[in-house]
Amino acid sequence: MHELSFREVWKARKRIEPFIQPTPLLYSEALSEQTGANVYLKLEHDHPTGSFKLRGAANKILSLKEEDRQKGVTTFSTGNHGISVAYMAAKLNIPCTVCISNHVPPAKVNRLKKLQARVEITGVSQDDAEARCVELEKEEGMTIIKPFDDKEVIAGQGTIGLEIMSQCPDVDEVIIPLSGGGLLSGIAFVMKSIEPAVHVTGITMKKAAVMQESLAKGKPVILEEEPTLADSLLGGIGTDNRFTFPMTRMYMDEGVRVDESQIEEGLLYILNHHKIVIEGAAATGIGHILYSDFGEGKNIVAVLSGNNIDHEVISDLIHKS
Ligand SMILES: *Cc1c(COP(=O)(O)O)cnc(C)c1O
Repeated sequence: MHELSFREVWKARKRIEPFIQPTPLLYSEALSEQTGANVYLKLEHDHPTGSFKLRGAANKILSLKEEDRQKGVTTFSTGNHGISVAYMAAKLNIPCTVCISNHVPPAKVNRLKKLQARVEITGVSQDDAEARCVELEKEEGMTIIKPFDDKEVIAGQGTIGLEIMSQCPDVDEVIIPLSGGGLLSGIAFVMKSIEPAVHVTGITMKKAAVMQESLAKGKPVILEEEPTLADSLLGGIGTDNRFTFPMTRMYMDEGVRVDESQIEEGLLYILNHHKIVIEGAAATGIGHILYSDFGEGKNIVAVLSGNNIDHEVISDLIHKS
């Protein structure tokens, strides 16, 4: 059993309230007409950092004791999690070190530096960067802010579930992009606690669906990464996973894998019909919806998890289409 309680999610909501606004739930007329269901979009790209990861990072950092805050925080993520940790640390005037390998592209490094993070370049791989984080924890007493396998992080993402339940109490199904499983664990825990019949669907790209493979094997597995438009869903779940593996096993009713063309289609669909730019990871759920039959009148909520996509990537997609 995991140890997350509903009270922890309410506490998270209270903690992050001064920094994070609730996001809208948008009724999608286009997707509803297309599918016959009532499809709603939870606009989790609509945060100052461009992704929901701000909720978990904020809750974790705000829950640290004052003396630990002073010693600083560290992470080895250069993606949405790293950006959110750096953003929150800057807001609260807390020292933040992001450890990266020398393979990280300059654009990402510059974005982190703009957020006032100290960027430490060590080694040639993600593993080297992680090892440096552990050193900083030991030597300087910094706190490692994990991207998903942490109770406060999961509780932070769970606040999305509270919002969905108040914005659409009749929800039948929630569709959630899945990587490490922090997003799905938090939302599903909250929604199933309120209404166990809510159907929870987790979506991953076909290439390297680590959580889904791990669930099939009954233990965390390691898969080789392959390039995908849903780059924010890359990465392992950790062989020492404590929370998100058992929680995903407990709460996910259905795991779906979409191929790259579906992700592209989902992304362009949201751009064309809503004039909203989302990244590949967020488009996985839409790619699934476009090929699904939910049944007339069902209330479906899809989580649009982020919008951090390079302009060249999106312009290539538009020209190709
Ligand atoms: C991190 C991330 C996800 C997946 O979240 P997990 O908690 O790792 O499952 C989905 N979409 C975007 C945009 C992300 O940054």
